[in-house]
Amino acid sequence: MVKVAIITGSSRGIGREIAKTLARKGITVVANYNKSEEAAKELKQELEEEGIKIDIIKADVSKREDAKKLVEFTLNKYGKVDILINNAGISEYKLFTDETDEDWNKIINTNLYSAFAMSQEVIPNMVHNKSGCIINMSSAWGVVGGSLEVIYSVSKAGLDGLTKALAKELGPSNIRVNSIAPGMIYTKMNEKFSKEELKEIEEEIPLGKIGKPSDIAKCIEWLLEDEYTTGQVISINGGWIIT
Ligand code: NAP
Repeated sequence: MVKVAIITGSSRGIGREIAKTLARKGITVVANYNKSEEAAKELKQELEEEGIKIDIIKADVSKREDAKKLVEFTLNKYGKVDILINNAGISEYKLFTDETDEDWNKIINTNLYSAFAMSQEVIPNMVHNKSGCIINMSSAWGVVGGSLEVIYSVSKAGLDGLTKALAKELGPSNIRVNSIAPGMIYTKMNEKFSKEELKEIEEEIPLGKIGKPSDIAKCIEWLLEDEYTTGQVISINGGWIIT
């Protein structure tokens, strides 16, 4: 049976690479975007040129009604959700004392509440099917904390808590829940760093390079094949952060 995957925030960066990887493996992909409609259309076209069809659905997953709409679309069209990848995320780079309530709500809702809402929407179907795989895109900063990225770090640590607790609750229903915690990956999210800053970071990484979205997509492929890993936070960071 062909598996069905929803990938939030897959118009760009890591999510886009995951969408391409899963679609090329024959998985039915429902890709989600919020603001980057053109990028999502390009992704759809790129895959269509390879003879692969995907759906691209606009939804702001920080909002319950949009999360619901995204899952309802998938269930109405395909009848099930086997894989949920909670990848949508935003970052900030600010002194903690400059952060506002608005920053808090925006980052927590986009990075953490979205995973709560999306998971709640798909879980009844996964429980019914006694099968499912949920992957939350966390961050190294969720594990060790990042200076000037305090709210972001909180949101990712929260995601890891969600992963661990939900894995225990859903294990008996044969649903696995894991986090992936990337270190530094080349995407638009890191455009805030200058070339010099990126070079300095590279020098701190034992493997001597910043990661690529495909490094994360490879781990997702493995997690989807696996049948015995749940409740884990899997760090992929070139050895930059070793706990
Ligand atoms: P990116 O290139 O900035 O892409 C972010 C994606 O999230 C975009 O597709 C964006 O879609 C989507 N998104 C943002 N807000 C959304 C919302 N409210 N609803 C739906 N989609 C939304 O970032 P990235 O580097 O690929 O990051 C992907 C994930 O990896 C994030 O959770 C991030 O925290 C995590 N991560 C990244 C790194 C890194 O070094 N790059 C490191 C650790 C963790 P639209 O543009 O269509 O709005």
